[in-house]
Amino acid sequence: MTIVFTVYFFIIGMLITSFTNVVGLRIPVGESIVRPRSHCPNCGHVLGALELTPVLGYLALRGKCRVCQLPISAKYPALELLGGVLYAYAFYQFGWSMQFVLTLILTSLLFILVMSDLAYMLVPNKILLFFLPISLIVRYLSPYENWYNPIIGGIVGFSLLFAIFLASRQGMGAGDVKLFGLLGIFLGPLDVVIALFVSAFVGSIIGLTLLGLKRVERKQPIPFVPSIAIGTLLTYYFADDWVTLYLDLFL
Ligand SMILES: [Zn+2]
Repeated sequence: MTIVFTVYFFIIGMLITSFTNVVGLRIPVGESIVRPRSHCPNCGHVLGALELTPVLGYLALRGKCRVCQLPISAKYPALELLGGVLYAYAFYQFGWSMQFVLTLILTSLLFILVMSDLAYMLVPNKILLFFLPISLIVRYLSPYENWYNPIIGGIVGFSLLFAIFLASRQGMGAGDVKLFGLLGIFLGPLDVVIALFVSAFVGSIIGLTLLGLKRVERKQPIPFVPSIAIGTLLTYYFADDWVTLYLDLFL
């Protein structure tokens, strides 16, 4: 049965990510997430059921608007596919549990923010404020070690990034500071620090790769939220293994 539900959540994950893409594109510019219906930004053609189907819609259209032939960005199907994989993996890891619900919430939050950062270089307050109470409630409904870990995690994440924000002046956005406060609730105080290091590492690899491929200029700012999302999820799933390995090696 696990296999059936894993496949099920792969499909659900693609559908949710298709929705979080819309949220990430519309909320930062003050648009409603239900109206108008999804349409081509060039010719206004309203998308039908097939065109709205995650990944398959893109493939059926061969990556172009059916009416005006404007190319559709490959980042939409790429994110949808990745969403499918991540939601399926979350179910595979945690099964029917509150930990699974918590993981779905964290993953959705990150997908919305990645879309918004890629499109506008923005981390919208509205999204952070929406997820703040939900993350606290679900965190405390999931198994947890002690009552203060999520709170201290939030404070550590926020303070650490705030210190970097003050020191770097422009290297880091205020949105990243607030985001790490929220991530600290999910991760706890130790893992949020690990997540910061992993994110910075992932960010430097992405930055150097883009520079090497000449996709960006030397001083051009690169959206950091995708690196934060990768760093956070790697930490969320694997930090316990890393800490165990570290203790085995050095103690
Ligand atoms: Zn069009």
